Amino acid sequence: MRNYGQFCPIARGSGILAERWTPIILRNVLLGCRTFNQIAAGAPGLSRALLAKRLRELEEARVIDVRPKPDGHGSLYEPTAAGRGLWPVLTALGSWAEEWMQVTPEHASADVVLWSWCESFLRHDRLPDRRIVVRFEFSSLGRRLRAWLLVERREAEICSFDPGFDNDLVVTIHDSLVFARWHLGLIEWAAALRSGGIEVAGPRDLCRALPTWNAGPEVHARLRVERERMPGCPALPPLGAPREGERVPSRHVSEVRPAQCSSIPDFTGRLVTPDDPAYDGVRAVWNGAIDHRPRLIARCSSDADVIAALRFGRSSGLAISVRGGGHGVAGTAVCDGGLVIDLSPMKRITVDPAPGIARAQPGVLWGELDAATQAFGLATTGGVVSHTGISGLTLGGGLGWLMRRYGLTVDNLLEARVVTADGKTLTASERDHTDLFWGLRGGGGGLGIATSFTYRLHPVGPEVLAGSVLWPLEEAPQVLRAYRDFVASAPCEVASGVTLRRAPASPSLPVELHRRPVCSVALLALGEDRLLAPMRTFGRPLLDLVKRRPYTGLQSMMDATVPHGWHYYWKSTGLRELSDRAIDAMVDHAARATSVRSYATLIHLGGAIAEIDPDSTAYSRRSVPYELHVNGVWLPHEPIGGPETAWARNFVAALESDHAGVYVNFMDRDDGERTASAFGSEAYRRLTALRQAVDPDRVFSGPAERRVL
Ligand SMILES: Cc1cc2nc3c(=O)[nH]c(=O)nc-3n(C[C@H](O)[C@H](O)[C@H](O)COP(=O)(O)OP(=O)(O)OC[C@H]3O[C@@H](n4cnc5c(N)ncnc54)[C@H](O)[C@@H]3O)c2cc1C
Repeated sequence: MRNYGQFCPIARGSGILAERWTPIILRNVLLGCRTFNQIAAGAPGLSRALLAKRLRELEEARVIDVRPKPDGHGSLYEPTAAGRGLWPVLTALGSWAEEWMQVTPEHASADVVLWSWCESFLRHDRLPDRRIVVRFEFSSLGRRLRAWLLVERREAEICSFDPGFDNDLVVTIHDSLVFARWHLGLIEWAAALRSGGIEVAGPRDLCRALPTWNAGPEVHARLRVERERMPGCPALPPLGAPREGERVPSRHVSEVRPAQCSSIPDFTGRLVTPDDPAYDGVRAVWNGAIDHRPRLIARCSSDADVIAALRFGRSSGLAISVRGGGHGVAGTAVCDGGLVIDLSPMKRITVDPAPGIARAQPGVLWGELDAATQAFGLATTGGVVSHTGISGLTLGGGLGWLMRRYGLTVDNLLEARVVTADGKTLTASERDHTDLFWGLRGGGGGLGIATSFTYRLHPVGPEVLAGSVLWPLEEAPQVLRAYRDFVASAPCEVASGVTLRRAPASPSLPVELHRRPVCSVALLALGEDRLLAPMRTFGRPLLDLVKRRPYTGLQSMMDATVPHGWHYYWKSTGLRELSDRAIDAMVDHAARATSVRSYATLIHLGGAIAEIDPDSTAYSRRSVPYELHVNGVWLPHEPIGGPETAWARNFVAALESDHAGVYVNFMDRDDGERTASAFGSEAYRRLTALRQAVDPDRVFSGPAERRVL
């Protein structure tokens, strides 16, 4: 990697970015390419050796994380927070090029256009619901090259080899520049055909449909118009483009009034205002459907920074929100027009193995805490996706693989340091500030800003027996009934959940299962292997992925199915039982999912959770045996997720007679009216009184009270 030997931030940043192919590689990773081959596919001409070298450099610069694939063959590449922070830099570069550089034949590699179409701009909703094969002939590339677009189950894949099916359409690209100009929205499809640069042969209806599968022309053309209206403003939106009907983030920085927001007395962290190139990166949260534009983001590095930011927020009358890991689906971590007290840079972890205790700052993610504690063969109950923040998850209760054996995350919370609404610091525990400590354990926030969590640890792993067993969705009614019997007698060493979905196109699954509707039972045994046998041997599973794997591997097993930046809508409910009627309704709704990425998961609770006195923590729904979590998912460039939202709502509504409240951390933007059901009436009354006592001026509002759909 280049080092310019200059202190200047532009020179330091250039050391990483200004290397040949690096921006292209980063773009591909930020667009969601996770494997070596996927990254290489969007960079034809780049040698595999140089790609490997650049990926190593990016890893060393902590811009990407590299970890082994779950099947042990090869690696997965994911952007770190620093990597995601480069997205606005790349889009600014793109905007500059759009303004100052024409697209010329030497820029117009047709296979890259096809890759971009498929990777970033594919209109899944317009793809036919049957297999279609489109053969592309690139006669313009000098040598005769071919690629196949294979459409199946509303997914599309580019193959460089003949997939072996009849070709429904043949598209010949005689002039790559015409193809690129169409993709960029510079010419109409009809004009491209008339020019002779593109030729299509096949049935009339498919010939007509083909160009509508690409959102690129429309999105690029619209962005160009926006940019012309607002000269000088970066125009490409993060990770795909919003579409007609979707709230388009205003790029006009001056729309956010500057006020006196560029400095905070005694604050030593980083302040990010709307005119900062990092602004879009740091205001983005996990759920890409959230587009909140705060006036100021105070990236804290210490408790003192938190206090300084809080004082400033109060004295300037700004609305305040608190950000931990930014995973709250409702996006309450980031407020519109106010001050975000961003704790994500606070990442110190100390592990004291002898007593089995870990202390972590609020910016820590579960993957980071697990890695630190597993170094000593220890762990505490934490979220099942490694990029979730410890903060919000802990304050809401904390469901995880270890909960049936060791209780919820809050049951392992020994103390929390808190900056209170009046800017003081205190430590709450079973001994001190006991009422506040009760509320911090499951109240969902809104009682102060937690700046440190101390957890009890347990011996776990380093390897555990865990993984998923898959059956066809058609067999889900029988599998779920068998599952109900299995969990009824399972000891607390067994944790499990069932997911109904189309199997992800994941490298850990055989290709023939990709996108197939399945019923997947995820299992963990902390005791003997035979504990899982009754479920693993039920019927004839399609696949059994249960094996000994590192506990940290288990904790990141689901990561790739819920990446940052996709758009999500959640509807969840506790279930008092798993009746036959509920099972049938679940399977029926699962089969009608409107997106290949949407899913429903049933989580089995009980065990140690139910053994703890419900009055001892604000998480009081301890006798609820199941939590049902329905996740409607759509991609950033797809139309606003009306069908996915309706699907998730209808799914949960269909089980109404079995509802048992809602888990506060699964509440989405339109769940405000369900808040009391997250606690039960007595706990809700106590929590409301506590909030009034510790924050009479309503400086903070708990996530449950800030839903903003
Ligand atoms: C992919 C994914 C997987 C998940 N898996 C699980 C799971 O396995 N188990 C589970 O129980 N939940 C899970 N959740 C839900 C999760 O618990 C919540 O989204 C939680 O809010 C995440 O915490 P965070 O710090 O990342 O969130 P943030 O969005 O940063 O915060 C959420 C809310 O908590 C408040 N808050 C955050 N930190 C603090 C603090 N230090 N002091 C005071 N208030 C604070 C914020 O103001 C905000 O309103 C998952 C969520 C996602 C998106």
